[in-house]
Amino acid sequence: MILCEKVLRPRANSKYDPPDGHKCQRVTGHSGPCGEFTYLDGLNDVAPKVREKIVRDATMTTGASWKSKDAGPNRIHRWTMLLTDDELLVLEIKMAALKPWVVAKLRQKAATYEDCMSSARYLAWLVYGMEGAPEADPETKMYLEDHFGPILKGATGCLVCRAPLRFELFHEARRGRAEIETAHANPRVHTPGNVGFAHRHCNIAQGDKDLGDFYDWILGILERAGRITVHNLDHSLPLDPPRDPRDAEE
Ligand SMILES: [Zn+2]
Ligand SMILES: [Zn+2]
Repeated sequence: MILCEKVLRPRANSKYDPPDGHKCQRVTGHSGPCGEFTYLDGLNDVAPKVREKIVRDATMTTGASWKSKDAGPNRIHRWTMLLTDDELLVLEIKMAALKPWVVAKLRQKAATYEDCMSSARYLAWLVYGMEGAPEADPETKMYLEDHFGPILKGATGCLVCRAPLRFELFHEARRGRAEIETAHANPRVHTPGNVGFAHRHCNIAQGDKDLGDFYDWILGILERAGRITVHNLDHSLPLDPPRDPRDAEE
């Protein structure tokens, strides 16, 4: 699928725009106006917050959950975090003044504009694959399926625990925190497949770990707690196993 990619008019605070500008993500030769997230328009009436969430999580760093003046900017575009400290200084973001762990956290969220755009598309595809999700209009369905394959209702599961995710969970929140969060299998990579949705609790449990490391950690806990027995061979299997002497007797 070839995208239109016409550069969209800069917005009010264009200094945070991607280096080559925002580009139209519709199919080339499309009718009607250019747009970045036209495929999310169908969510506007039924679930505007889900639309906002996809756009925000695909393109912005996570908001600071800490509140202090040395905590750094609240939410910034992921592509902005690809700039050097000097370039960021021009944008009045003083990286040198931030605590090293804050810098690390911000840099970890960096991603190119293109990766943000494909992550947004992928998240939309996952949403429409949730049990209880609204039906995508034919144009959106074709657009998303052309990128990621058939949308199968109920196929979208939690990135971490793999249990199915119901669309209704987006509307549930405890103490102001949504029950579905955007998650990453590798926290440093923001691309389709690596990004996904997870239960809030699963995402918190995974923390900063790669998913592989997280599963190993869980496995160790379950083993030590006696909930499972893990059979690990401490030697490799011989290519030519020794014969059982009883076989020879026959
Ligand atoms: Zn266009
Ligand atoms: Zn889960």
